[in-house]
Amino acid sequence: MSFLFSPPATVSVPVMGESRAFPVHRIYCVGRNYEEHAKEMGFTGREPPFFFLKPADALVVVAAGQTGTMPYPSQTSNLHHEIELVVAIGKGGKNIKAADAAQHIYGYAVGLDMTRRDLQNDMKKQGRPWCIGKAFDHSAPIGPITPLAHAGDVNNADIRLQVNDSDRQRSNVSKLIWNVAETIEHLSAAWELQPGDLIYTGTPEGVAAVVKGDKLVGEVAGLGQLKVQIF
Ligand code: MN
Repeated sequence: MSFLFSPPATVSVPVMGESRAFPVHRIYCVGRNYEEHAKEMGFTGREPPFFFLKPADALVVVAAGQTGTMPYPSQTSNLHHEIELVVAIGKGGKNIKAADAAQHIYGYAVGLDMTRRDLQNDMKKQGRPWCIGKAFDHSAPIGPITPLAHAGDVNNADIRLQVNDSDRQRSNVSKLIWNVAETIEHLSAAWELQPGDLIYTGTPEGVAAVVKGDKLVGEVAGLGQLKVQIF
């Protein structure tokens, strides 16, 4: 096969303790999946999970021990951080039951669902798609993937984000409205999951704006830290 121009490179994420990288297929994201965050966004209660996507090449891949850089995006004056547990799918499938979900998980990572909140809110008001608020270039920083067997008890792990050494977000993955297994059940009923899919599982409360120069340090216990500076 010859192409009209060079096809894009495969986006991949490094894996802890493994020389081979994890090739990325799609990035799924869960909306409003912690109760206190749903409340701060003006919603209450347990609603069915809902999803949006980011393009794979929106990832900002940060190797272990490194500080990644993210350019402050265009057309916003309210860039928000959302620290999230990310699930890396190793085995695809559709209509996966929550009880079987673990068999489909390769590992976990720490991610940031960066959001142009002003644009997202405009789109919400008008009933239009969130893409411009959520799926922009460099909107998905991610740290290395820790394989399932080395990730510890991720479902009960502390999750936190500091900006310039001050606490912004602090919660526990056990507070997810729809836990990882339930999320995989719902997601795989709507799309056939593929090896290489990433799932950003949602953010706890405390989302707020960052500006150029800010240094973000995110962490999920057992998965290491994700450091990103905005420039
Ligand atoms: Mn999010």
